[in-house]
Amino acid sequence: MDASPVLQPDEVPVTRIGNGTGPGNSDRQRLETLADISEFLMMHDLPVCPFTLEVAHDIVTGTKPRLAAIAAARETDGLPLTLGWLEEIMHEEATDGGAAQIHSLIVRLEKTIEEFANTACVARTATTDYNSALEAHVGDLETIDTSGNVIEQITTLAHHMLDRTREVARELSRSERETRTLQQQLADARAEAEIDHLTGLPNRRAFETRYSQEYAATRDSGEPLCVAFCDIDEFKRINDKHGHEAGDRVLRTVAQSLATMSNDKCHVARHGGEEFVVVLRDKMIEDAWALIDEAREAIAARRLINRSTDVPFGQITLSAGVADVHAFPDAREALRAADNALLQAKEAGRNIVLKANSPGKSGQD
Ligand code: GH3
Ligand code: MG
Ligand code: MG
Repeated sequence: MDASPVLQPDEVPVTRIGNGTGPGNSDRQRLETLADISEFLMMHDLPVCPFTLEVAHDIVTGTKPRLAAIAAARETDGLPLTLGWLEEIMHEEATDGGAAQIHSLIVRLEKTIEEFANTACVARTATTDYNSALEAHVGDLETIDTSGNVIEQITTLAHHMLDRTREVARELSRSERETRTLQQQLADARAEAEIDHLTGLPNRRAFETRYSQEYAATRDSGEPLCVAFCDIDEFKRINDKHGHEAGDRVLRTVAQSLATMSNDKCHVARHGGEEFVVVLRDKMIEDAWALIDEAREAIAARRLINRSTDVPFGQITLSAGVADVHAFPDAREALRAADNALLQAKEAGRNIVLKANSPGKSGQD
C-alpha cells in the first residue's frame, strides 16, 4: 500500500467553492473524485477512515487497475465489498507484489547460472582435452635422444603450461560445484516462496500454478477435476473473543485437518485469510463433495480449547462450495462458481458443503 495519504489538506478545494467564478478544470476533477469516493463509501456502507478513503480513491480513480478490476468483478457477482474483504485484498496486493518480484528474480538468476554452468563445463572439457594432447607431445619430446637446448626450453615451457592448465581445470571444477550449490539454494528459495508460513500449506501462488497445470492436463486427458473453496465460519468472532494469536492456532489446526486429504491427486492450499482451496483430480463431483463434507464433519466434531486460557473455542465449523471444473467454460469460471456455492452455503446457515450449479442447471443437485 502507498504510504502517502490520499487526501492532503491542501487538496480539499474549499477555498474556491462559491467564489462566483465556478471551479476550474482541475478543481472540478477533484470535486468529481471526492464525489465518486463518497458515493463508493456510501454505496458499500463502508466507514470513513484513512484506509477506506485510500482504497476508495485507488478504485474510483483506477490508480490500482488490478484492485479496481477485482472490485468490479465482485460487484458484478453481486457480492458485498466489506471492510474485511478490502483488508484481505489489500494485504494480498502487498504480499503478491513482493512475491512476484522474488519469483522473477529467481527465474533470472537461474537462467544466468545455467548459462555459466554450461560455459564452465565446456571450458573444463576443452582444457582437459588440451592437457591430454600437450602431455602426449611432451612425452615425445622427452624421448628424443638428440635433444638440444631449444627442445629443453620447449619442454620446460610445456610443463609449465601443463601445470597452468591443470590449475585452470581445478578452478573451473570448483566454480561448477559452487554453481550447483547456488542452484540448489535457489530451488529451495523458490519452494519457500510457495509455502504459507502460518499453516505450512502451499499458498495461493502455488495453488494457481497447480490449478492451471491440473486444468490443462485433465482437459486433454478427459479426466474429471473438481475445485473447492472452504471458509471457516464466523472466524472473526474467534479473533475477537480469543485474540489474533489464538486465532492463528485455530487456523493451523483447521489447515492440518484439511491437509490430511492431500495426496498426489488432491491438493490443499491456503487461499488467503481463513479460506482454503482444494484441487481434486480424478474425482467426480459427488465424490469430491463427499470428501470435502467428510473434512467438514471431522472439523466440526472436534472440541478445541484455547490452551493459554483454558477457555473452549466452541465448535469450529466451515462452509464450502465445490465445482466440477470441466462443466464450466474455463478454469476461472469454475473457480468463481465454487466461490458462489460457498456464498450460498454461508447464506444457507453455514457448516455445510454445496455443489456449484453447472451452467444451464438451476438449483442444487
Ligand atoms: P463468515 O462465516 O461469513 O466467513 O464470517 P467470518 O467472520 O469468518 O468472515 P469475515 O470475512 O468477516 O472475517 C474473517 C476474519 O478472518 C477477519 C480476519 O481478521 C481473520 N483473519 C484473516 N486472516 C487471518 C490470520 O492469518 N490470522 C488470524 N488470526 N485471523 C485472520
Ligand atoms: Mg469465514
Ligand atoms: Mg473468508
